[in-house]
Amino acid sequence: MTTQVYSRWDHLTPVERQVLRGVFWSGAASRGALADTLGFSKSRLNAVVSNLVVGGLLQELGPLSSTGGRRAEHLALAPDLGVLACVDLGATSLHVALVAPTMTVLAERREVADVRHGPGRVMQRVKTLLGDLLAEQRLRPEDVLAVGMGVPGPVEVHSGLLVSPPIMPGWEGFSIREDLAGLVDAPVLVDNDVNVLALGELWHARQPAGDFLVVKVGTGIGCGIVSGGRIYRGADGAAGDVGHICVDPLGPRCHCGNVGCVEAMAAGPAVARDARRAAEAGESERLAEVLAETGRLEPPDVARAAREGDAVALAIVQRSGQLVGMMLASLVNFFNPSHIVLTGGIVGMGPLWLASIRQSVYGRSLALSTRHIEIRPSTLGERGGVLGAAALGLLGVLDRGGRP
Ligand SMILES: [Zn+2]
Repeated sequence: MTTQVYSRWDHLTPVERQVLRGVFWSGAASRGALADTLGFSKSRLNAVVSNLVVGGLLQELGPLSSTGGRRAEHLALAPDLGVLACVDLGATSLHVALVAPTMTVLAERREVADVRHGPGRVMQRVKTLLGDLLAEQRLRPEDVLAVGMGVPGPVEVHSGLLVSPPIMPGWEGFSIREDLAGLVDAPVLVDNDVNVLALGELWHARQPAGDFLVVKVGTGIGCGIVSGGRIYRGADGAAGDVGHICVDPLGPRCHCGNVGCVEAMAAGPAVARDARRAAEAGESERLAEVLAETGRLEPPDVARAAREGDAVALAIVQRSGQLVGMMLASLVNFFNPSHIVLTGGIVGMGPLWLASIRQSVYGRSLALSTRHIEIRPSTLGERGGVLGAAALGLLGVLDRGGRP
């Protein structure tokens, strides 16, 4: 790979970008399906595709007739278009990956992190891990087509700056874009983690006009909104901050200053806190044992104890599911999504938690909005964040051309 990966993206016409976007969203699309999706005649599409194949941006897949007959029907992005550097930063975790434009993960690293350490320490790890992965894949920084990054706080999309991120002290006004400019000479796209996850699910769903929600439940609770196949951000980019929807006016105080927020009562730290309280009060022998053995109680420990038949642990799991379901029922009545994808660390709590969520949603939503709704964990699993970041990076390149 050479620096010419960029030259191929420069000088693309709007129509060529539109075709490349269509191929990206569809995977290896057939010419017929692509022409239908884009509203192009087959001859118009074939003319644009020919240019893109010659320009090294598209490849033809399938049997090519050597006798000059039919042309290959399926199209995909060329395999040597550079790599996307993808970063999924959570409140307590860091996942970095190199992803091909065809959305194949080439290499990845995952480690524990703490965003509260501030941008200096966290971004140093990001740069070190990206450098290691590039070296491992025998790639140079010039081979990076774009960087996509999801962060656990509100982002002003045009500038890529974080805006008053409540769980990211010290990051206010920090420019991730400028910070990474020293590592790679490529566009850097930054967005809120749930929007990035929603982009990953949108790519995976292959539903150009989908209306659905991606809800992350981890240290906090947030929601990515897909409306008409696009990420809906709201007037100020703050849409989907559902963690502070009140589910109990007499509930405990949240870090936002209000009381009874679903995040304060049902997210990971609340489950851990309730379990510790039960263990210390002698209400659950099983939870007390785990606490004594390991010195800690995390949501997966509570879920395990519930599966093993501990009644107190089961009640904590069900309570969390019920409250998340209450919040989701309001969203379902308001937005009428076709499905809700659940993701984030606490989704590992498993089927008992999911069952409580579904029961709560069906019990509280209007019959018309729940007739077809599907509530399920993400099939992208732990890779949802980096795949969404890859989509963010690639679409950024297509929107604005090659080098920043
Ligand atoms: Zn709150």
